[in-house]
Amino acid sequence: MKSKDYEFWFIVGSQLLYGREVLDTVASRAQEIADKMNDSGNLPFKMVYKGTVKSAEEIVTLCKEANYEDRCAGIITWCHTFSPSKMWINGLANLQKPYCHFATQYNRCIPDEEIDMNFMNLNQAAHGDREHGFIAGRLRMPRKVIFGYWMDEDVQKRIGSWMRAAAGVAFSKELKVMRFGDNMREVAVTEGDKVEAQIKFGWQVNTWPVGRLAEAIDEVTGAEIDELYKAYKEQFDIAADNLESIRYQAREELAIKKMMDEEGCKAFCNTFQDLYGMQQLPGLATQHLMAQGYGYGAEGDWKTAAMTAIVKFMGEGKTGGTTFMEDYTYHLEEGKEYILGAHMLEVCPSIAAGRPRIEVHDLSIGDREAPARLVFEGHEGPAIAVSLVDMGGRLRLICQDIQCVKPIMNMPNLPVARVMWKPMPDLRTGVEAWITAGGAHHTVLSYDVSAEQMKDWANMMNIEFVHITKDTTIESLERDLFLSDLAWSR
Ligand code: MN
Repeated sequence: MKSKDYEFWFIVGSQLLYGREVLDTVASRAQEIADKMNDSGNLPFKMVYKGTVKSAEEIVTLCKEANYEDRCAGIITWCHTFSPSKMWINGLANLQKPYCHFATQYNRCIPDEEIDMNFMNLNQAAHGDREHGFIAGRLRMPRKVIFGYWMDEDVQKRIGSWMRAAAGVAFSKELKVMRFGDNMREVAVTEGDKVEAQIKFGWQVNTWPVGRLAEAIDEVTGAEIDELYKAYKEQFDIAADNLESIRYQAREELAIKKMMDEEGCKAFCNTFQDLYGMQQLPGLATQHLMAQGYGYGAEGDWKTAAMTAIVKFMGEGKTGGTTFMEDYTYHLEEGKEYILGAHMLEVCPSIAAGRPRIEVHDLSIGDREAPARLVFEGHEGPAIAVSLVDMGGRLRLICQDIQCVKPIMNMPNLPVARVMWKPMPDLRTGVEAWITAGGAHHTVLSYDVSAEQMKDWANMMNIEFVHITKDTTIESLERDLFLSDLAWSR
């Protein structure tokens, strides 16, 4: 899936008091900043200088245009000079796009010999950014404040990182999720208010009959299967004799993809309790769809399906990988304490340490034929685990920092993909914190997207965010959750 051609509008605040010459200088410098930042290679999307605004009317017009223009995924504001912020109220109050306040200045250093009152007149970022910051604070607007010199790589990368989170908002607002079957019977955490999710996130979550999928599976042609089978052979090692099982997974993948593409869906969920008319639970099929950017949630978990698609989109072009994941079992040997994550079948090969193998094994759950699946180890490195839960009246996004390791044992009889990690701050506190916060057993695990990006995304979506870090204590977490309950019950 190719990301849309999103762009971000760079809007510079000023006023008419300074005269033509100063405003011309501001405009040319703003254009220079946009050009050089675009050329830096540190921005994933284009930053488009849209003008220096000097009146309430100009700001209202630009905010309306930003709302209306699909390509515009957010605005980035900056004040080279002073911009009295009452003129921003009517525009910002109606802004519906993500908003970043970039606090920077054109020159890096104070020019010792040259500085005079003309210089002071033109270069007032420190002063202008404070007036500008006040009004967004007063309006209680969700916004990102990024401070630093615009030529510095780390500053450009922070802007780039925020852009990805903001593009994740745009992606979310258009996201459609295809449900096959309902929830796994009796499971609570995968349930949720789909109407609330659509109000908050824009997700269109709807169901299609499994019987229709079964028909679509039958409609796939042998030639289509041959072609996909060839792609499997190029990407994976085939370690199975039951090639028919692999071909059946290709048939399922093609059918699911066709149905999703026809409806414009970028995520799907299914459940092993409703495989009406299907010979196998989709394993390899689901894994290969995730590798192409589609979101997935097992057992009817449409929330995790949607989040997997969004996080994958936010990390597009990066190489660490993002997958649907499940906490499975613990290793509690003192000093080597880990969580083993896996699923019945469905882990995305984008996180694989080596070349995945296609294997075919019986599935002890369900009453279908042995499904082909990809087996591999997840690679080592820092990552996050993300869970979206419905607290009743509000949605809570829980994000835990984790450290993935090479699995410390081979587990030759475990016939599924596996990942091993240590949750922050340590296994005991990390697990207690996750359970205290109500985090699900299903997560999105990503090496590509940071906790800060997930926090930015949650802020822009106006939902609760819980971050479990190396510094988390149970006491501080419980206090935060208590205060959140008060704040979100307004
Ligand atoms: Mn599961």
